[in-house]
Parts: sequence; structure tokens; C-alpha cells
Amino acid sequence: MSKANDASQDLATPVQFLKGGGPDRAKRLAKVGLRTARDLLFYLPRSYEDLTKIRTIATMIAGETNSIVGVVDESDLREIGRDRSILSVLIKDDNEYLRCTWFNQPFLHAKLRTGQKLLISGTAKLKAGRWEMTHPKTKLLGDADAAQGQVVPVYSLTEGVNQTQMRRLVHLAVDEYAEMIPEVFPEPFLAEKSLLGIGETLREIHGPQCPELLEQARRRLIYQELLILQLAVAIQRQRMQASPAPQMEVSPKIDSRIRRRFPFPLTEDQNSAIDDIVADLAKPTPMNRLVQGEVGSGKTVVAEYAMLASVALGRQAVMMAPTDVLARQHLKTLERDLAESQVAIGMLTGSLTPAQRRDLIRAAAEEEIDILVGTQAIAHALESSELQIPKLGLVIIDEQHKFGVRQRAQLKKAGVDAHYLVMTATPIPRTVAISLFGDLDVSSLRKPPPGRQTVHSYIGEESQREKWWEFFRRKLDEGSQGYVIVPLIEETDDTDGGVRSLQQAFEELASDRLESYRLGLLHGRMGGDEKEDVMSRFHRGETQVLVATTVVEVGVDVPNATLMTIENGERFGLAQLHQLRGRISRGARPGYLCVFAAPESEQASERLTAFAATNNGFELAEIDFKLRGPGDIFGVRQHGMPPFRIANLQRDGEIVKTAREDARRLIDADPELTDKAWRKVREMVFRRFGEALDLGDVG
Ligand code: ADP
Ligand code: MG
Repeated sequence: MSKANDASQDLATPVQFLKGGGPDRAKRLAKVGLRTARDLLFYLPRSYEDLTKIRTIATMIAGETNSIVGVVDESDLREIGRDRSILSVLIKDDNEYLRCTWFNQPFLHAKLRTGQKLLISGTAKLKAGRWEMTHPKTKLLGDADAAQGQVVPVYSLTEGVNQTQMRRLVHLAVDEYAEMIPEVFPEPFLAEKSLLGIGETLREIHGPQCPELLEQARRRLIYQELLILQLAVAIQRQRMQASPAPQMEVSPKIDSRIRRRFPFPLTEDQNSAIDDIVADLAKPTPMNRLVQGEVGSGKTVVAEYAMLASVALGRQAVMMAPTDVLARQHLKTLERDLAESQVAIGMLTGSLTPAQRRDLIRAAAEEEIDILVGTQAIAHALESSELQIPKLGLVIIDEQHKFGVRQRAQLKKAGVDAHYLVMTATPIPRTVAISLFGDLDVSSLRKPPPGRQTVHSYIGEESQREKWWEFFRRKLDEGSQGYVIVPLIEETDDTDGGVRSLQQAFEELASDRLESYRLGLLHGRMGGDEKEDVMSRFHRGETQVLVATTVVEVGVDVPNATLMTIENGERFGLAQLHQLRGRISRGARPGYLCVFAAPESEQASERLTAFAATNNGFELAEIDFKLRGPGDIFGVRQHGMPPFRIANLQRDGEIVKTAREDARRLIDADPELTDKAWRKVREMVFRRFGEALDLGDVG
């Protein structure tokens, strides 16, 4: 039998037969998935106690949190009446004493016996020359803790196994098995990237010699995890690009013919996005590009350019929007810009009659339609082959970063070989973009077209409420319109309670602060006609103030509306607040927004402050990401990405970038990573991400 096989059998040794294992403990550990020696080696500590930061009692700093290690010298419990007690414990280290006091926690007495070694952490006070702490955190220390050096791992535990036992068990497993774990990276690669080998990595992770080496070990594992993801993404990208797409060269003549159609000169950002697209189309490989820019940043014209370029070069183009309303809006824009041109436009949504649908599908198949606008209905019809677009050259997926990626993969699978352009209004932090949409190239529209108004944003204090409403009314009197946004948890609200509370807010406003103004009420539970009616009255200025839930986020554009009050602002994410704000920057006059909020944490109030300080959605996305992480913003799981074990996108942005560069370089040289030296890495890539990324072939 080969050595490798020996090792893999040894690593599969059940916990029961390990030193410190045994059948009972094995059963308990199996509950948290720890069955074999290998499992223990990869059971990463939840955190570390850095005993290098530990002081002696003599060197504590008064008024600050200090951690010390000492031994219980005396422990005294005094019961005073029922349920009340004072536990007083004297801790001693090499040459000083510290008095710790707990009220009404008599059960601690049994733990803090004389001679017990402890790690203590709390605010130190100096009273009459003596050190004191009240209700400090304590941790019992065993002998094994001292043996492991100064940075000590802390593991998640399971019932019946304590920290000391866990440490010992892992420690023994590491001693015996760490060297048997096969290295997945080729030696020269480890050397080139200055990565620790896996054996040394695991030894450091479980028993760090010093903080610096521990950092290196963590870096190796984080890098490995991120590189595996980036390799998966790079392979997907490479495969996407391996399929054909029509090569389309946009000549200067075509370029100026297209530009003549637009009613305004393009912004610098629009031009550079178009440059990116033109370069993509000129290649025989498919474009896979994400154009990101906030609502109103002018993405439509970029998409229009791409479609007209395709049409000019004898191809058909498709543009899908998330809703009928938006599809119709695109149709209108196109019809306006293409009036008196040869370009034939069609629209396919779910609301066509069967006859209309048949007619449209026939026209598309016979190449009578150059540009087909619509909803997801187009994708479904293409996937089921009901719809044939013989000269299809370009597919645009608008406002769908969540689905765009998946949609594109599905269309590809259905054999739709074309250039792909995905557009999103949600600015995506760079690190997240690379991780989740790593196979897409990104163009960003950062600066809005000229004429966009700024919105003055305030975070309102309760005491300023009256003043704000006074201002609000004055602006209404001057002819402005406005919104009052009241949050509803609509999805979870299965009763009509939420609507009732909105109704109540509405009635309060109508009978008090906005008594003499014409108000409208809008929420997601209303029927389509009713909504449309409310909206068009607001649009015509018949109502002055719209009291609404967040339904106004999408598709509402009333230039005369320049005022907004948001209640319970703490309930909204930054992105959502920012989108709401976008509603009052449409007209010729500046907007005014006041958010009333009761932030429950430091972080929540930091977010609100950041929100008021900048109008730039990209900056806000980065801030939200730093404060809240990617999950909250995008739902990493929704994208089919398994959560990371050790990497953290918020923290590890630099490593993400390196991993992406390395992955692209590797895949450029070896498109399917079939080099023998990389066999183990390849297996990991497909095992972990094959399904999520639709990579098929499990290797
Ligand atoms: P979004 O990025 O939200 O799709 P749109 O493409 O709908 O934004 O553009 C928002 C508004 O800005 C539209 O009314 C559009 O006509 C206008 N617009 C776009 N580009 C320019 C420009 N370069 N100059 C002036 N107005 C522009
Ligand atoms: Mg748009």
C-alpha cells in the first residue's frame, strides 16, 4: 500500500480511538461533526486568548479593562437575607493582590476555590491603595493552558466537553497527525507565495508559538479558501468565454450615427462604460459585463448604445427588465430615440394576449424585430425554445444583479450564445463584486448626469420634530410636494396590522401636522389600479403629500416632489434609505430629507451619520459593507455561495484581490486546471463550488 493511502487511513481514525477520545466523548463530538482525526485537525478555533496582552496586577491601569492571571487566595461568600449575597474573592499573582466582588451570584463560590488558577478580566479600580474589580469576567485555567504558549485557542464546545478537554484532544491529534495531512499546493507555489505548509499551518492554528506565526497560518488558510473560490469563478469565466459570440466592430461611422440619436451628450462615465463595451463586442468571445450605477445614473443610454451597435452590425438584441412597468419605460425611451429610424422594436411581457404573443414570436423568428424589450418572459420563452431569435447578438439584463448572474448561466445552458450585459442600481462593494460576480467585468457610472439635484439630508432629533414639520409645511406652501415614509414589515405581516398602523400614521398626519394639506396613501397591499390611481393623482399634483411604505422605491418619478420625512429610519438599511432619497432628487430644485430614528446601537447611529454625510451610493455601499458585512446587503447564500469557513470579506479584501489575480493567472495558463501538480486543488474547487457555479463536470 502506498504511503498516501496509509496517511489517509490514519487520518480517518475515529475520535473514539484517539488519545483523550473514548466512546463517550466520541459520541458527544460526533454531534458537532467531529468524527475523525482529520476533523479535529480542521476544527478551527473560534477565537484566541492572547495571553501576551496579559498584565500583572502591579502593572494594571486604573479605570481601564485589564486582564490578569492569578490564583484564588481566599474566597468568602456572605448571604444577606433571601436571594442576596456578596462573594468576595482575593486573587494573588506573583507579588500583588486583587479583590474581586460579585453580588448575588452565590454559585460562583463553588468554582472559585482556593488555589484555582484564573484568567480575570475587568475594570480595575484602585481604592485606598488596593486593587478591586466588580463582576469581572473569569475563566478557570488548567495546567494544559499554560503548556500551550501565550496565545491560546478557544474552541466552540459541545455539551459534556469542556475547553480544557477540547484543547487537549485537538493538541494530541495535532501532535500525531498534522504531518500526515497532504499538501494541496505544489511546493514551488508555496515558496513563491510565501505560504506556510499545511502541517505547520495546522500546528500554529491549534498551538500558536507567537501572534506573528499564527497570523501567517491564518493567512494561509484564508488564502486557500479564497483561491479555491476564485479558481471556480475563473473556470466559469473561462468556460463562458469559450463559447462563441458574434464579433462586432463598431466603426466611427456607426458610433456617430448612434450618438446622434441621443438627446444629450454623454457623461464621462457613460462614455467610458461604452468604450469598455465596444472593446468587448469586438472580440470573438462573449462580453460578460456588469454596469453598475445608481438609479438615475444613466444606464439606459449605455444599454441603448450597445443594442444599436448590435443592430447596426446586423444582429438582434434583447433587453429584459424586472417589471412590466420598467419594460414599458424602456420601450418608450427607445421609441422616442428611434423615431423615424429603420429599427424595429417589439415588446414581450407576460401580459400579452396569446395572439399578440404568437405574432411577436413569429416576427422575432423571421428577423422582423431588431430589438426585443420585455421581462423575464423573454428568458423563459428562450429557455423553452418557444422563442427563437436567429440573429441574437446581445442580451441585456436590467436591474437584476441578484438574478442576472444565474439567468445568464441558464440562458447559456439553453444555447443562447450572445454578449451579455447585466445592469444594477445597487452599488456593490468592490470586494463583494470580485467574490460573487468575479467572472464579470465591471463598468461603473459613479457621477450622475448633469442637472441632478443634491438632497440635503438630516438625521432628526426628537426635539427638532416641530421645526422640521414647520419647514416641511412652508415648502409645501411654496408649491413643493413630498413623501412621508413609514416602514412596514410587509412580507412578515400576514395580518393587516401593518397596514392599519400606516393608516393610523396617515390619519394622525391628516388631523394634525398636515391638517390643511391634500394627502394620499400608498402601500404594497393595494391593488394595481388603486395604486396607479394614487400615483397619478400625486403626479398631477392633486395630492401634495404621499404617505407611503417603501413601495415608492421603485419606478416613481415625480420631479416636483422634493421633500421627504422618514420615520423609524433605524429599520432601513443604508442602501434602502439611499434609494428612497433618490426619489426627491428628480427635479430642478434641491431636495430635503429628514430621517427620524431611534438607533439601537453605536453602529446603527454611525450608519445614519454616514448616510447624512454623503450622497454617493458607492461610498455608502462600502460603508454599509464595512459596518454590516456582505451577508446583510446581498445575502451571500442567495447566490448559492457556501459561507466561508475562515475568510471574511470585510476583513480580507486584500487577500481576495491577490487570490483573484492568482486564479486568473493560473486559469489563463491552464484553463481547466488539469496540470497534475494541481490535481488536489482542482478536486477541492469542484467539490466545493461545482454545483453552486453550475460548473457541471465534477472533475
Ligand atoms: P438609470 O441608471 O436609473 O437606468 P436612466 O438611464 O433612466 O437611469 O437615466 C436617468 C435620467 O437621466 C433619464 O431621464 C435620462 O434621460 C437622463 N440622462 C441620462 N444620461 C444623461 C446625460 N448624459 N445627460 C443628461 N441627462 C441624462
Ligand atoms: Mg434603469
